[in-house]
Amino acid sequence: MSADTQSTQNIVVVGNGMVGHHFVEQLSQNSNYNITVLSAESRLAYDRVHLSEYFSGKTADDLALTTPEVYQQLGVNFYLDAKVTTIDKSRKVVTTEQGESYSYDKLVLATGSYPFVPPIPGKEREHCLVYRTIDDLDAIQASANTGKTGVVVGGGLLGLEAANALKELGLDTHVVEFAPQLMGVQLDQAGGQQLRKMIEELGVTVHTEKATNVITDGESSVHKMEFADGTHLETDLILFSAGIRPYDNLAREFDLAVGERGGIVVNNQCQTSDEDIYAIGECALWNNFIFGLVAPGYTMAKVAASHIDGGEESFTGADMSTKLKLMGVEVGSIGDAHARTPGAQSYTYQNERDNVYKKMVVSQDGKTLLGAVLVGDTSEYDSLLQYALNGIELPENPDALILPSNGGEKPTLGVDSLPDTATICSCLNVTKGDIVAAVDAGATDVGAIKSVTKASTGCGGCSALLKNVAENEFAKRGLEVKKDICSHFVYSRTELFHIIKAEKIKNFDTLIAKHGKGMGCEICKPAVGSILASVYNDYILQDDHLHLQDTNDTYLGNMQKDGTYSVVPRMPGGEVTPEKLIVIGEVAKEYNLYTKVTGGQRIDLFGARVDQLPAIWKRLIDAGMETGHAYGKSLRTVKSCVGSTWCRYGVQDSMSMAIFLEERYKGLRSPHKIKFAVSGCTRECAEAQSKDIGVIATENGWNLYVSGNGGMKPRHGDLFATDLDDATLIKYIDRYLMFYVRMADRLQRTSVWLESLEGGLEYMQKVVKDDHLGINDELERQMDAVVATYQCEWKTTVESPEKLKRFRQFVNSDKQDENIQFVTEREQIRPATLTEKAANGLLIETVDVTAVEPA
Ligand SMILES: Cc1cc2nc3c(=O)[nH]c(=O)nc-3n(C[C@H](O)[C@H](O)[C@H](O)COP(=O)(O)OP(=O)(O)OC[C@H]3O[C@@H](n4cnc5c(N)ncnc54)[C@H](O)[C@@H]3O)c2cc1C
Ligand code: SF4
Ligand code: SF4
Repeated sequence: MSADTQSTQNIVVVGNGMVGHHFVEQLSQNSNYNITVLSAESRLAYDRVHLSEYFSGKTADDLALTTPEVYQQLGVNFYLDAKVTTIDKSRKVVTTEQGESYSYDKLVLATGSYPFVPPIPGKEREHCLVYRTIDDLDAIQASANTGKTGVVVGGGLLGLEAANALKELGLDTHVVEFAPQLMGVQLDQAGGQQLRKMIEELGVTVHTEKATNVITDGESSVHKMEFADGTHLETDLILFSAGIRPYDNLAREFDLAVGERGGIVVNNQCQTSDEDIYAIGECALWNNFIFGLVAPGYTMAKVAASHIDGGEESFTGADMSTKLKLMGVEVGSIGDAHARTPGAQSYTYQNERDNVYKKMVVSQDGKTLLGAVLVGDTSEYDSLLQYALNGIELPENPDALILPSNGGEKPTLGVDSLPDTATICSCLNVTKGDIVAAVDAGATDVGAIKSVTKASTGCGGCSALLKNVAENEFAKRGLEVKKDICSHFVYSRTELFHIIKAEKIKNFDTLIAKHGKGMGCEICKPAVGSILASVYNDYILQDDHLHLQDTNDTYLGNMQKDGTYSVVPRMPGGEVTPEKLIVIGEVAKEYNLYTKVTGGQRIDLFGARVDQLPAIWKRLIDAGMETGHAYGKSLRTVKSCVGSTWCRYGVQDSMSMAIFLEERYKGLRSPHKIKFAVSGCTRECAEAQSKDIGVIATENGWNLYVSGNGGMKPRHGDLFATDLDDATLIKYIDRYLMFYVRMADRLQRTSVWLESLEGGLEYMQKVVKDDHLGINDELERQMDAVVATYQCEWKTTVESPEKLKRFRQFVNSDKQDENIQFVTEREQIRPATLTEKAANGLLIETVDVTAVEPA
């Protein structure tokens, strides 16, 4: 309806929760409406989603979504402590508990829901509470001050959040759940078990399959909860979080249609059975479904506002996927998490050592993602959600989406492949198209996009994806992109390097307390771990650094696809004595390890279980070997030909140079792995021009090549300097590498770094050769310090009984993982395929498949 044809209408909104407020925000932009808000609570709308932050220091003001002044400016009339008790549909009037009446043209019920308290005798006792409003939280705080133990009844999403609050209040916390698992709606059984294990490790006791019969006086605590199975639990405080029920009492009493199990029935325009009365948010029942999340409520608010204003939007349901952090445990659930779609198939990945469980549910033809469960690590949530929501075809090997990358590249969902209709922020229903439009309209940073579109201002779960889409759009338009490492630091990796160095910061906790926010994530932690190692070269498993390392560094080995590890001793320049070779052979034989010579001229031993690693390494170290850092973002190998010592064409001793270089730079932690090679003449048998640092002998010394790469995107190294003597060659390499360590982004190989550097090779030559920045002394000193503080991480580890305790298959037992199974092929082991495992049952025998005739 246009402004000129419409007279001012009275809109009365009952309830000023998150959804009621969103409705007011939508409609108050239009002056044709006289809006009156009636709220049963004593304060205007606040952020219930982040309610728990009240216990970690946020005030009611911090949580407020609006203020009286803002409503006044918008011309919205509001009444607090004004609970509506009657609706007179024929006269179109509502009346509050206090007897005040308000007439309406359109009435909007946004009454939300209330916590369900099971009808247990004793539930009304003092210190039996619920968790829904700020007033509830004040009551919980007061009660917690007088008690020692707290029980949450209900192990769903909200119950666990409440349990976290009790724990933060210092109570010995228990969760009592009727079902056999936690978060049964969002997680499958294995995910629920994983979550339980992690939550118990954090000190919360979980009791499943417990039905409470009665609550009576306790002997040592305030209450005694008696369970149907004859057991009992004493506690001082009980918090009920056993689900929610819609506040539909007004609808019931005043004859609006309600669902069989509650909820005010609405159509696609959010109208109730009376066309002048709308219901939105958690009180509304759409298609026999109540949405217990804020995002669908916001969409309903938009639809109702649009419909009142003559618009044509309709509510078509909502995605119920969730990502959250419970007591620091990351949990995500997408779509059909229980694989209930006919023909659905699942991929699962479980890493019990690192407490990670991931499952993808795909369609029968394997092309579409139907659902997912993520526990312990939700880093793939955003891209999986996009695959699921937009029906994007999965890559050929979809399991790669949830498997660890182990330093390699993972298939990425380029934001370019998302359609404009793709929902980026589901809380506020912001699409990629909305973000593109905001950039087109002049937004030049993520903050500006947020303020225009409101994206990422709800639960915040989409912030990484929003940043990705925004940066992609900025880059397309040639706008400078700010390279904050993640949402916890407003600094790039380079900036963090400088901060750490300048302020002599020695651990992550100090850095994030001074310069970041939150707890850190899987992006900033390893990046900071690597910077600290580059600057101080401490032992990476020392207590305050351990939590920063990725899986490979944590166990000082590369994890393979079956969960076993590889063992790779250093072999500088590919040179090895027969004695060492014999020990390697003996170890491989004793532990039945698959043995292979690598492209980097050393020997990889595959198939070691984590509990075998210490003994294997002890044998190798006793024989004079040391770690080859095959797992680290650090120097890998210096490949070499035999050079002038043996070869007829050699003009320099490439072997000695290669060994010297490998000994010098071994253990240097860097933004990504570094490979070297040295060739004894221009015939280039060591392929030095495909390495990060390539050295080729000349009649007069050495030619230095930089930033070559062999991997996924081959790049010929650039000729950096010619005919260098030994000392100058080392000096240049010191400076080049240290400058790279300081300046590159995380996971940026030297090839990509040089190409992205303004001024490219020429600039680097000025820096390294001409000391253009005046920092060469410092770069060299820093390299000398790293070289002087080298330690073999495995030697330090095998000498520390404390550190060795971590090398077990399972945290709480010495059991071995039955999933690790091998078969024999070409006289050596290899991981069994799924079919072979199934054929084998759970036996860990090896079967010789080379003996089987091909079909
Ligand atoms: C601790 C907690 C954590 C949560 N975390 C998340 C999350 O991570 N993600 C997510 O999407 N959702 C989360 N939710 C759910 C989310 O908060 C709700 O979906 C959302 O607040 C629903 O908004 P609403 O306006 O429909 O209802 P409410 O926010 O419940 O507001 C309804 C309001 O109406 C008032 N009212 C009721 N009856 C009357 C009456 N007769 N007269 C006047 N006023 C009345 C009520 O007092 C209340 O103030 C969480 C909820 C809680 C409690
Ligand atoms: S090239 Fe070979 S070793 Fe390297 S990541 Fe690919 S499969 Fe693994
Ligand atoms: S690079 Fe030159 S020195 Fe080295 S092996 Fe080849 S031919 Fe011989």
